[in-house]
Amino acid sequence: MSPHVLSVASEAVPLVKTGGLADVVGALPAALAAQGVRLTTLLPGYPAVIAAAKRAKVMHSFDALLGEPARLLSATLNGHPLLILDAPAYFARDGGPYGDASGKDWPDNWRRFAAFGRAAADLAAGQVKGLAFDLIHAHDWQAGMALAYLRFASPKGAVIPPSVMTIHNMAFQGYFPANVFSKLGLPKKAWALDGVESYGGVGFLKAGMEAASAITTVSPTYAREIREAEFGMGLEGLIQSREGRVRGIVNGIDTIEWNPATDPHIAKTYTPKTLSKRTANKRALEAEFELDRDDGPLFIVISRLTWQKGMDVLVETIDHLVGIGGRLALLGSGDATIAEALHQAAQRHPGKVGIRIGYDEALSHRMQAGGDAILVPSRFEPCGLTQLYGLAYGCVPVVARTGGLADTIIDANLAALDAGAATGIQFTGVTYAPLADAISRAVHLYRDRSLWTAMQRNGMTADFSWARSGTAYANLYKDLTAT
Ligand code: ADP
Repeated sequence: MSPHVLSVASEAVPLVKTGGLADVVGALPAALAAQGVRLTTLLPGYPAVIAAAKRAKVMHSFDALLGEPARLLSATLNGHPLLILDAPAYFARDGGPYGDASGKDWPDNWRRFAAFGRAAADLAAGQVKGLAFDLIHAHDWQAGMALAYLRFASPKGAVIPPSVMTIHNMAFQGYFPANVFSKLGLPKKAWALDGVESYGGVGFLKAGMEAASAITTVSPTYAREIREAEFGMGLEGLIQSREGRVRGIVNGIDTIEWNPATDPHIAKTYTPKTLSKRTANKRALEAEFELDRDDGPLFIVISRLTWQKGMDVLVETIDHLVGIGGRLALLGSGDATIAEALHQAAQRHPGKVGIRIGYDEALSHRMQAGGDAILVPSRFEPCGLTQLYGLAYGCVPVVARTGGLADTIIDANLAALDAGAATGIQFTGVTYAPLADAISRAVHLYRDRSLWTAMQRNGMTADFSWARSGTAYANLYKDLTAT
């Protein structure tokens, strides 16, 4: 029989998104339905989620989740079952899912997501009438405590289902001071090296990893990299000790949302056979970013402005990019110092560099459709989605050779060019020289129109739909529920 899976996460498109996690969680139900797996998603009841679930039904009331009342609402997410934890004391706040409007983390995040985990554990252990699950799939630290509660604080006699902990980014571990432990409602034995304790504090992701039947991350290369201190962020030892249970499954993309042949956000739709129509999108993008029209490549960046994403190094290479005939359109939000340096670069290079600070989904589509190449100079990248959207839109990815970027882009080296297999450009080491060199290679390759067009077509016809990754998750669920 196909398993019924409870997918627990703090974000899902189209309701709430701060990054790739939301794309994946939003896409999983359909990807798994195609495999005959039923997946119900549990989300926190942020205002946007509650507002979108107008006809939600109350399924259950919790008297107290870590001291606060809460209700479980039933609704739908992209036509698939959705459960919402309506706990106003924790989630009815203006600002983002993890912090206030200025980006400062909520001081009680430990309590908000412990309560969320507690509710998820009750659900998975069959404590809510009318709902039964064969497996629980927790995403990132915000859901990690669900597995710890199941392991250490399940009601007597409850059947604990197998579990998957997916790490979308090892850099975010949900690490809190030791004094929160006594308020979590866990037994003393949970405070252990192989429990929730982590470097003298409480680690929500670590607690989930310790309790999980299987651990996955979002690309095979990242799954290998996190065994090393440079990428494991202190949890490399744990990954090494669980090696046999760690898998890397590359994210797919939503090919309905991200399809240049039907995209309602872009000036002109196109296919691999009608690539010349892209020009209309490029012209529109130049106008939108007030860039000169010329025949050099238009580079784009869509990114969080952070150290992880190598945005500091990108800033250093802008003069070089412009100097060799490139232009740059960048959309991003995050670090204020990086944003200021980008604005300065735009002032230095009027008509050549355009910057938009903020978060704008529709603009990100227009950029993929109008840009010639997308730069992704991440220092580490668990999977990365923007390079996949770049492939789908014929916006050639120029990426650092790490994590999912290494797994999804075929570098335009001589062998790949000869074989007609190249889809982008990779470079090793996120410092000025390798990135500047990769940008030079892109400018050079761009001048060979037939070669560039072939690279665009290779990317556009590659399969990054959820079909393959959906099968991999379905197989994992089936392996775990069969035992
Ligand atoms: P991460 O989750 O680490 O930020 P990913 O590449 O996995 O990186 O996913 C980022 C997602 O967020 C992509 O869908 C990308 O298009 C989107 N994105 C990032 N920054 C912006 C922005 N400023 N405006 C619109 N979309 C953005």
